Amino acid sequence: MPDPETPRMLYVGFCRMCGTGALGLRTCGGCAGVVVVCDECDVAWIDEDLSDPPATTGSETLPCPHCEASLYDPPSHWTTGDEVQQSDWLTHALDHNRLTLEVGQAFLPEANDPDEDLDRKDS
Ligand SMILES: [Zn+2]
Ligand SMILES: [Zn+2]
Repeated sequence: MPDPETPRMLYVGFCRMCGTGALGLRTCGGCAGVVVVCDECDVAWIDEDLSDPPATTGSETLPCPHCEASLYDPPSHWTTGDEVQQSDWLTHALDHNRLTLEVGQAFLPEANDPDEDLDRKDS
């Protein structure tokens, strides 16, 4: 059983636009399509042609290139292994070694450090 406390993210390398974001596989809640997203710079591609300009860009939210549903809000979610197998473009890209699937930890909202309370002292 996967640990629900540790969201897993399947990713296929790192973003060429920002250089730091992992390119996660995201399943759209609107059309169930699998797209590639960088949640560092909020861009999405529809397939493995990651040297092309991204299909959509966003800021607080990111629209699906297929149906414009928000890729960040539920029911959109990080793509599961089963969904990878059901995605034609993705299985094709993996079969032809155009992408390498890796598993990482999903990005979480940045948690505040509980120990980082302001150092208040009564004078
Ligand atoms: Zn990026
Ligand atoms: Zn969609």
